[in-house]
Order: sequence, then structure tokens, then C-alpha cells
Amino acid sequence: MRFFFLLSIILILFSCGSQKTDVVETDINKSTSPTQEKITTQPAQATTSSFEKIFKSDEEWKKELNEQEYHVLREKGTERPGTGDLLKNKEEGIYTCRGCQLPLFDSNTKFESGTGWPSYFQPISKENVVEEIDNTYGMKRVEVLCGRCQGHLGHVFEDGPKPTGLRYCINSVSLDFIKKK
Ligand SMILES: [Zn+2]
Repeated sequence: MRFFFLLSIILILFSCGSQKTDVVETDINKSTSPTQEKITTQPAQATTSSFEKIFKSDEEWKKELNEQEYHVLREKGTERPGTGDLLKNKEEGIYTCRGCQLPLFDSNTKFESGTGWPSYFQPISKENVVEEIDNTYGMKRVEVLCGRCQGHLGHVFEDGPKPTGLRYCINSVSLDFIKKK
């Protein structure tokens, strides 16, 4: 376990270190080959995972997010149960990451869990969310993060409904909602 932990730290450091180069390459691609960009973005659907990870400093996030969003998404906070603006939303559409707008959950996977947080039985795509072991507060839980900006979304538990048996317990404040047209 320790080895894998160290390995993942090294990988994280490595990917952070190469971030600047990635940004530069993307800029070059955009300015020099607009046709190539069209080809790569056109076939992409909400369920595919053709995206580059986003890395921003705490200062940048603070400018983009309000205090509560920053606390939950960047400091792994939790909104008070029953208070989220998307908890009782029953409209058809897509729930996206409030930090980077990556599609995360479809409304047809949302269910009433009675916990006070929006709950889903599966993400829109496995690549769009990252799951990590969370041992804080003396509990062993699985944290759910945005696959693109690493924003904290909530936790996933194994007491959900069929067909997956999973319950993605997500903070409203980590999500935006795009209503189906
Ligand atoms: Zn995100």
C-alpha cells in the first residue's frame, strides 16, 4: 500500500510539473491548427472522456468560486444536509461540475436517498469522476472527485438502488444543472 501511495504522490507531482508544458502545447494547437481542433472535438459526446485535466492555484479558484463552493470543492467541505439547491430538483438534464462544467451525472440516475444530499446511482462516465479512499473522521469512505479539475464532489457508498447498488452522495454546491431542451 505504502509503495502505491508513494507512487501516486510521484505521479501527481509529475503531472503537476508537466502542467505548464501542456497548456503551452494546447495554445499552440489552437492558434496554428483550427481544423485539427475541430476534428478532435466534434465526435466527443458528453459521455466520452476526451478532456485534459485542469490545474489551478488556490488563488485562481478563489476568484472563480464563492466562499461555500471553494470550501466544498477545494477544501473537501460538506454542505449542511437538506440545504442544497439541487437536492429536490426533478427536472431532466445533466449535472455538471461547478468548478469546470464537466458533465458528471444524468438526471435519470438521480434518486431520493433521504440523506439530505443529491444522490445518484452512477456517474455519466467512469472517467469523469475519480474515486479515492478517504480515512478522515475515523471513517473509511470513498471520496468522489471531478475527473477534470479534481474538485471534491462527495462520497460513494455501496447501499444504493439497482442496477448498480451504489449511492453517489454529492454536494449540491459542487454541481450545476443544465436543463434538457
Ligand atoms: Zn470539475
